Amino acid sequence: MPGSLKTEAIVLRGIRYGEADRVLHLYTPERGRVSAIAKGVRRAKSRFGGRLEPFFRLNLVLYQGKSDLMTVTSAETIAGHPRLREHGAALDGAARACDAVGRLFGDGEPHAGVYHLLANQLALIDRDPTSATRANALAFRLKLLLAAGFAPHLASCASCGEPEHLVGFSGAAGGVVCGACEAGSFALSQEGHDFLVAALGRPLAEAPDAGPPALAQADRAISETLEHHAHVRLRGVGSR
Ligand SMILES: [Zn+2]
Repeated sequence: MPGSLKTEAIVLRGIRYGEADRVLHLYTPERGRVSAIAKGVRRAKSRFGGRLEPFFRLNLVLYQGKSDLMTVTSAETIAGHPRLREHGAALDGAARACDAVGRLFGDGEPHAGVYHLLANQLALIDRDPTSATRANALAFRLKLLLAAGFAPHLASCASCGEPEHLVGFSGAAGGVVCGACEAGSFALSQEGHDFLVAALGRPLAEAPDAGPPALAQADRAISETLEHHAHVRLRGVGSR
């Protein structure tokens, strides 16, 4: 049905199109991921100014015609996040967060919680670009897994329910596993386990830190969970 849609949105990425246009991948609270074309946006005198760039949080009016691609008819900035663009690690963290959201959730799959999580993550690393650490990126991914319904089982063995002697992590089993069920798992230290529990349970701004080996285990646990249950492969979070 042709008509206009007023929505908040975060720009996940922009792709040059034709002479002066750009196709935007957007994440919205009520429609999930949508694509829209911004006509003439690459001209010097575009009425959109520099607002339709990745990581902008905007109030948009989108026109839905007959094609699948909507057209941006108006854009107002809620937050442009200028500081995160001046800091390499923050820019990288923002790009990874937007990439993960765009790949984990398909078109027409709305998760208002994911929208707010992404908005929080961008605001956090804009307010303090030094907070864009490896631990922060992992905590963000864990919370995305939770929002998508794939949070790893951490309280007891994911295979048999044993509450103690948890020694490994298995993406196939969906969480931590005990010594009797460890086949197919990799070793998870107490520190790695504690990081996963705290990162899932605390607000993003209070995400815990951990040593490099524990963070590497957490990274692997998240990657294997994504691959087994969401069939999505994301770039590692790096070694910062
Ligand atoms: Zn077990």
